[in-house]
Amino acid sequence: MLPGLFDFSAMTKETSMPDFDYDFFVIGGGSGGVRAGRLAADMGKRVGIAEEYRYGGTCVIRGCVPKKLMVYASHFPESFEDAAGFGWSVGESSFDWKKLIANKDREIDRLEGLYRKGLENAGAEIFNTRAELTGSHEVLLVNEDRIVTAERILIATGGTPTRLESLEGHELCISSNEVFHLEEQPKSIVIKGGGYIAVEFACIFAGLGTNTTLVYRGDHILRGFDHDLAFHLREEMEKKGIRIILGANIARVEANGASKKVTIDNGEVLDADEVMLAVGRLPNTKGLGLEKAGVVTDRIGDIRVDQYSRSSIRHILAVGDVTNRVALTPVAIHEAMCLIETEFRGNPVSPDHDLIPTAVFSSPEIGTVGMSEEAAGRQYRELEIYRAHFRPMKHTLSGRDEKMLMKIVVEAKTRKVLGVHILGPDAGEMAQVLGIALKMGATKDDFDRTMAVHPTAAEELVTMYKPSYLVKDGKREG
Ligand code: NDP
Repeated sequence: MLPGLFDFSAMTKETSMPDFDYDFFVIGGGSGGVRAGRLAADMGKRVGIAEEYRYGGTCVIRGCVPKKLMVYASHFPESFEDAAGFGWSVGESSFDWKKLIANKDREIDRLEGLYRKGLENAGAEIFNTRAELTGSHEVLLVNEDRIVTAERILIATGGTPTRLESLEGHELCISSNEVFHLEEQPKSIVIKGGGYIAVEFACIFAGLGTNTTLVYRGDHILRGFDHDLAFHLREEMEKKGIRIILGANIARVEANGASKKVTIDNGEVLDADEVMLAVGRLPNTKGLGLEKAGVVTDRIGDIRVDQYSRSSIRHILAVGDVTNRVALTPVAIHEAMCLIETEFRGNPVSPDHDLIPTAVFSSPEIGTVGMSEEAAGRQYRELEIYRAHFRPMKHTLSGRDEKMLMKIVVEAKTRKVLGVHILGPDAGEMAQVLGIALKMGATKDDFDRTMAVHPTAAEELVTMYKPSYLVKDGKREG
């Protein structure tokens, strides 16, 4: 996103406004689109919104929400095991995949209903159809074969999993779209990728008892995350029986009766019920008619926007994954809220993409905010690293061999906390609260003078008084 990316000064001011059907038309009923549509309708704007699949978008329908429900399901076997150390004997347990999927689907239906209701109550007109641009103020409602006009148009069509058509046998593989609707729990799965989705689903499947292998081309899973954190997550995942093959790629996938034969480029051949590709997502702009409206796209089809989420056409706006800024639900919602302020309340606000806390719902979980040690080492001369690697209290009795890692990255000169990284139970919950502290510019001294909450794991964050080591000019000392 570049400030002043487009020069709108040459555009003539419309003195007499043509009569549009809508003040604001939203294409895409996901997190960003629904929020913008609802807020504009709440203000009395004439809003239309079109969604080709289901309201709620990736996050609610086939992303964050169903994933988290599956994460919960995957934790139970360990809880049953851990119970023994606390005096419980848990009887025989069994898992019913179909029941989990049906219950999950029921919850997703409920949430979709709430999204629709929110729009309806605000007075937005809802369309269940694909919509495409046919001009800079024109939207074709495909199912109705009808063109409507709008003064402003918002594109919030999100992203779609990369299908990796270059991979032989890619059509035999599933993506994060299909994974939520498998009829049966796979007995074995091979997952390609080392990012959020690959890691989260490897942990979900392994937790549920599927024989799981992760194949990743790099040396460290979760590129861009603090290396220490990614390394220890890998260790913990391996302890749980997940096989992680690094520095390798899937060369091809072939049908092998009911299962799949997976050839890895290191020469190994695996057999699996399912192969899942989790190799990133692409902006959902194919066939959207952007060129007809004059909207400029970038390298991977993402819509180029300025600091106010305006495309190259001043009245066509875009938020969320389709702009390839930061592909996270809360970011899309924030961008939508800024857009409403700017476009309809006369208060220009650009989204703030700095210090975004995030979680990876792996097992154990990751929660992180701010710079990794590696990123900070490239930018700052001297760092103090505070680090604790310990057994959480619960596991003293459960006997589980699982450790928690907490790490604070501090700029030595100013004592400013640049990043906090946590691996362990409830790390995501902690990252949310730490995000506030870092956003306020907290220093290590602020952490030090904060009273601990005892006994918690989080108290480690305010009781690490001495640096574990220093980093000077990007190199670790001591
Ligand atoms: P990511 O960008 O996180 O990871 C993509 C992975 O695929 C990387 O490991 C990448 O490797 C690898 N990859 C890409 N292309 C190829 C290729 N051609 N061959 C082999 N490997 C390849 O994408 P995800 O699909 O996991 O998730 C998409 C986005 O969704 C995330 O970036 C995140 O923003 C969001 N998300 C957030 C979640 C959360 O907040 N908890 C959960 C799930 C998704 P390399 O690193 O080497 O490039």
